Amino acid sequence: MIEKMYIDGEWVLAESGETREILNPATEKVIATVTEGAEPDAFKAITAARRAFDHDGWSEVAALERARLLYAVANKLEERAEEFAELDMLDNGKPLREAQFDVSDAVGCFRYYAGIVSKPQGQTYNVPDAMQAMVVREPIGVCGQITPWNYPLLMAVWKLAPALAAGNTVVFKPSEITPLSAIKLFAIFEEVGFPKGVCNLVLGAGPTVGQTIAASHEVDKIAFTGGTVTGRKIMEAATGNLKKISLELGGKSPNIVFDDVDLETAVDWALFAIFANQGQVCSAGSRLLLQESIHDRFVELLVDRAQKIEVGPGNEPNSEMGPLISEAHMNKVLKYIQIGLAEGATLACGGKRINRKGYFVEPTIFTNTHPEMQIVQEEIFGPVLVVQKFKDEGEAVRLANNTIYGLAGAVFTKDGARAQRIIRKLRAGITWINAYHPTYNEAPWGGYKQSGIGRELGTFGYEAYTEVKQININLLDEPVGWFKRE
Ligand code: NAD
Repeated sequence: MIEKMYIDGEWVLAESGETREILNPATEKVIATVTEGAEPDAFKAITAARRAFDHDGWSEVAALERARLLYAVANKLEERAEEFAELDMLDNGKPLREAQFDVSDAVGCFRYYAGIVSKPQGQTYNVPDAMQAMVVREPIGVCGQITPWNYPLLMAVWKLAPALAAGNTVVFKPSEITPLSAIKLFAIFEEVGFPKGVCNLVLGAGPTVGQTIAASHEVDKIAFTGGTVTGRKIMEAATGNLKKISLELGGKSPNIVFDDVDLETAVDWALFAIFANQGQVCSAGSRLLLQESIHDRFVELLVDRAQKIEVGPGNEPNSEMGPLISEAHMNKVLKYIQIGLAEGATLACGGKRINRKGYFVEPTIFTNTHPEMQIVQEEIFGPVLVVQKFKDEGEAVRLANNTIYGLAGAVFTKDGARAQRIIRKLRAGITWINAYHPTYNEAPWGGYKQSGIGRELGTFGYEAYTEVKQININLLDEPVGWFKRE
C-alpha cells in the first residue's frame, strides 16, 4: 500500500507516480512506502490553500469554531496516543517512552492554542485626537511549513496548531525521512472536519517540494525548522515576495557547571542534556563547560554513567537511547568523531558504531578540546559531547558564547545570583538554571544569532501567525478641514 498525501481535502498520489520507502533506522527495514510529491503537487496544495483562505471563508470562521476543531484534534490524538508513539518510534527510532512523551506534548500544544483563540486579543490606544485607535490581529494567509525528522509529530504540531488557531490555511511538508505520523495527523484533521483546502500535506524532498513552497508568491509566510544551511536557502527563496519568515535552526549549546554543585545531580542532567533523543536535538547541551577544579572528577563520573546507557531499538523496554536517523546521518556523525581525533581531542568514551543491525552509535565524549576545533564549533547532531574547561565566570561566558549559534544554554550552580548573572549574559533564546531540556508549550522557543529568526510556542508563537492591523475610528462626524473650501 502506498501512503498518500492530503491536498484540497483529498488523499492523493503524486502526479509523477514516484514513491519513497520509509525505513526503521533500528532494523534498516522498510516499514512503509509513501507517495513522493514534487513541484506540481506543491502547486496544487498552494492553490487549494489560497482558495480556502481567500474565497471559501476559512479566515472568517469564528474563533470558537476553530478552537472546537483544535480541541477535537487533541482529543483524537490523545485517544490514539499509543498508535502515534509507536509510529514515531518506528519511523525515527527513538525509544518508546520518548515518543510517548512527544505525543502528550503534542496533545497539550493543540489544547493550548485552542484555548488562546478565544482570549482577549489586540489593543486600544488613547491618542491625541477624537479618534479611537486600536489594533486587531488577523491571520497572515497561506502558511508554508517545513519540518525536520528529529521530532516528527511534535515539530509538525508546533507549527500546525498555532497557524490553524490563528485562522491561516497551511501547506505542510514533513521531513521526507519521517512522514508517517504527519499522515495520521492529517487523517485526524479530515475526521474532525476542517474544511477542504485549509490543511494540506505535501510529501517529498526539500529541494523540490520545500523549495517550491518557500519560493511561491502565493504563500504569505514560511515557517521552517531544520539545519542552518537549509534555513539560509529558505530565507533566500522567500525574498521573491518578501513573505514573512520564521526559522528554527541548529545549535551548539553550552551547559556550564560550576564547582559548587552536587556532582551526581549535575552529571545526571549533563547526560540528559546531550544523549536524550540520541543527541539529535537542536537544543542539545552538546558542549559541557566544566570549572577546572571539578573537571577530572566530573568527567570520570560522566564517562561511567555514559557507558551504562542502554543503546537499542526503541521498542525494547530497556532501551534508553535509539539509533541515529539514517545511514547518511550516522556516517556524518562518525566523520565528526574522526575529525575530533584528528584535531587532537581525547576520546574519553564511545566513538564507534555499535556492531549490530541499525544505525547505532555509542555515547561519545571528547575532552581536551580547544575552542577553535570543528567539533566544538559545529553542530554534530548526534550522541557526541565535547567538554571544555573554564577558570571563572568571565571565561565561562566567553566560551559559552563563542559559536555562531545561540539556541539554548544552562548553568548549574548553587549561587543564585551567579546563576542569573551568567544566564543574562548568554546569547541564547532558551535557558535553564540547574536543569536542562524541559520546555513548555506556554513559553517561546527560538534562537539568537544563527540559530534562527522569530519564536514558536506560547503567545509569541501565536502572534507569529498573525498580521497586526491598526484601525482608527473617527469619533467626530465632520470634515478634516485641511484644504481651503474655495
Ligand atoms: P534539514 O535542514 O536537512 O531539513 C529540514 C527540512 O527542510 C526537511 O523537511 C527537508 O526536506 C527540508 N529541506 C531541505 N532542503 C530544503 C530546501 N532547499 N528548501 C526547502 N526545504 C528544504 O534538517 P534535518 O536534517 O531534517 O534536521 C536536523 C536539523 O534541524 C538540525 O540542524 C537541527 O538543529 C535542526 N532543528 C532545529 C530545531 C529548532 O527548533 N531550532 C528543532 C529541530 C531540529
